[in-house]
Amino acid sequence: MDISRTTVGRLEIFGIADARPAPVDPARSYPDVPREAWTPHARWLTAEGLFRPDLGCFVVRGPAGVVLVDAGIGPGPVAYLGEARGTLRRHLDALGIGLADVTSVLFTHLHFDHVGWASLPDAQGAMRPSFPNARYVVGRSEWAFWEASPQSVMAHHREAFERVVRPVAVAGQLVVVEDGAEPIDGFAYRRLPGNTPGHQGILATSVGARCLFAADLCHCPVQVREWRWSHRSDVEPEAGRASRRAVFGELADTGTLLAFGHFPRGADIGEVHADGGGWRWAPVAG
Ligand SMILES: [Zn+2]
Repeated sequence: MDISRTTVGRLEIFGIADARPAPVDPARSYPDVPREAWTPHARWLTAEGLFRPDLGCFVVRGPAGVVLVDAGIGPGPVAYLGEARGTLRRHLDALGIGLADVTSVLFTHLHFDHVGWASLPDAQGAMRPSFPNARYVVGRSEWAFWEASPQSVMAHHREAFERVVRPVAVAGQLVVVEDGAEPIDGFAYRRLPGNTPGHQGILATSVGARCLFAADLCHCPVQVREWRWSHRSDVEPEAGRASRRAVFGELADTGTLLAFGHFPRGADIGEVHADGGGWRWAPVAG
C-alpha cells in the first residue's frame, strides 16, 4: 500500500509513501534501544525483525488548494538510499494533480527525505522549482539552522539542501515565516524541536476537525508508547522527548488526528490514546 486517504473536515488527505528503502536492523535506527526492548513491539517490524520506515509525505486537497506537507526523497536515484526513486509524481498524476496545481509546499524541516521533490532539472539541466505556482514555506528557526551550515549536518542532508532547496529560494518562491505562524488559513505551524532545532508540525483545522502533521516527532509507531526512544537522526534528542511528551499529553483522546510520514501507510494517520500511564497509537482506517 503506497497511499492512504483520510478526510478531516473539508480536507482530503493523501499519505504517500514516496519510497520504502530496504529494511534495516532497528539497532541502527535506534542505537540506544536494546534488542529485547523491541520484543513487545514486533508487529511494527518485518517478519525478520527489521525496521522498515516509509519515506512519506502528505497531499492535502481542500479550500486552500493543493497543499503538500513535505516533499519526499525526489525522483532519484538517491545513492544514500541504495539508488531509491521517489514515486510522488506518479501518485500526483493518478490523483489528477499536475505539478502546476500545487498551491503550497509547507516544509516541517529540511532533512533530505522531506525536500526531494522541491526542484527538478529543466531542459538545460538547471534546477528549478518543481511546482511553478506554489509558495514554498519554511519556519525561521529551521531556515536559520540550515543557512548556518552546521558541521553536525550529515553530507547527504547538506547536498540535498543545496541541490533542491536553494534553487527555490533563488527563484523567489521560498517564504520564511515566523515559528508558529499560520501561512495559510487553517494551516498553523507548531514548534516541535528535536529532529532538528527548528523542526515544526503543522496543525490543519477544517470545520472543527483537526490533524497535526507531526513529521519526524516519531519515526515509528512504537515511539508513541516508547516516547523516550530517540531515532538516530534526532539532532536534539532531549528536546525530541520533551516534544513527544507535550504533544501526546495535550492531544490524547481529544479527537485530533496525528499524521506521520515515516509510519507505514494505513497506520500513518491516527489518534493517540491515554493507556496505562502512557500512550498508545490508534490508526484510523485509511
Ligand atoms: Zn524524515
